[in-house]
Amino acid sequence: MKVSSISAYPVLDSRGMWTVEVSLMLQNGVRAAASAPQGKSTGAAEMRALPAAAAVKSVANIVAPRIVHKDFRNQAELDEFLVRLDGTKNRARIGANTMLAVSIAFLRAMARTKKAALWKHVRDEYGLWVDPTAKALRPRLFMNVVNGGLHAENGLHFQEYMIIPKSRTFAESVEVGAKIYHALGSALAKAKGRGAANLGDEGGFAPAFRNDLEPFLMIRAAARKMKLEKKIDLGLDAAATDIKGMSRRQLKNFYKKLIKGFKPLYIEDPFGENDFKSFAAMRAEYLGNGMGAGAPGVRSALWIAGDDLTTTNTDRMAVAQAKGSVNAVIVKPNQIGTVTEALNAVRMARAYRWAVVVSHRSGETNDDFIADFAYGVAADGLKLGAPARGERIAKYNRLLQIEREAAE
Ligand code: PEP
Ligand code: MG
Repeated sequence: MKVSSISAYPVLDSRGMWTVEVSLMLQNGVRAAASAPQGKSTGAAEMRALPAAAAVKSVANIVAPRIVHKDFRNQAELDEFLVRLDGTKNRARIGANTMLAVSIAFLRAMARTKKAALWKHVRDEYGLWVDPTAKALRPRLFMNVVNGGLHAENGLHFQEYMIIPKSRTFAESVEVGAKIYHALGSALAKAKGRGAANLGDEGGFAPAFRNDLEPFLMIRAAARKMKLEKKIDLGLDAAATDIKGMSRRQLKNFYKKLIKGFKPLYIEDPFGENDFKSFAAMRAEYLGNGMGAGAPGVRSALWIAGDDLTTTNTDRMAVAQAKGSVNAVIVKPNQIGTVTEALNAVRMARAYRWAVVVSHRSGETNDDFIADFAYGVAADGLKLGAPARGERIAKYNRLLQIEREAAE
């Protein structure tokens, strides 16, 4: 399929920062657009994103002259061409954000050409292979209801306090999560007064707390009040690379208390982004021999996930596997730059028997691609913030629509 035109322009993300959107047209007249999200607690090993103005120029000056009128048989051909065209190790020439917007726009245009829903097209590209013993093909929702770390100004050391509904449908999961989210908002306003229910970057509440465990106490109380405590698991993204003022020992002690008191299902980035060893020690401590035996991610009682550790990069994932660091992994397409590479990261995680959690970024646009991606690859989870703010709601509503499409 030939691309007949492509252009890029700046758009705003949810923090009011510029990012890049790409619009392309195929030779058959089908058009599609896509924009790139932006992180704040980014991993040092992530591929480089260009400033929006430079990304726009890179489409005009580098990408367009080389891909317009060129024939690409499939997604992998386009994506491999982009990687070669960039030619750098860290995507500094074209920009991983630019590449991702081009890659997703092409994927969308190809899905439209086939008249297929985007998630169905993702499924074809992925060649859906799912662990036959896995129970569901539907990702669980990782709803971030209290924001801290770099995503809020409240002094919490940890970045994301999540509820993870157990429900079997998106509709019911959203219902359960939203009820607890609203009950939590009311409880915070009551306990902490004016402004306590104001929102952080991902739509979670962001008041000052007495300590780093109080958010979970209040989440649990809100869930109890709604009689929904048994319908959720709890999760934490520590985003530990960005934690200031806590030693490794203090982190370990915190996780010990957290695990004892709250039995979370999920802990992401418990240690710094290059500390494969401390991840491995934690995995061994809580899950036994850390080399995968007895602790395949999805069925494990505790998912220890890499994000800044692994950066959707198969080289870093291989290191994490060799060292026994994790049994779950975050997949963020913009950390790597193309849809094909993000699919490869999922394939590798499946081969390692890790749980796969697809994730948004803290700076999002209204592009809802990750909903189709997560459903398309049958991820175990999708991290998508709180059920609030337009850019998060876009993903929630797309999941609800996917559920209806899948039932047809
Ligand atoms: C994260 O760390 O998982 C996250 C979504 O944050 P950011 O997009 O700011 O890196
Ligand atoms: Mg993270």
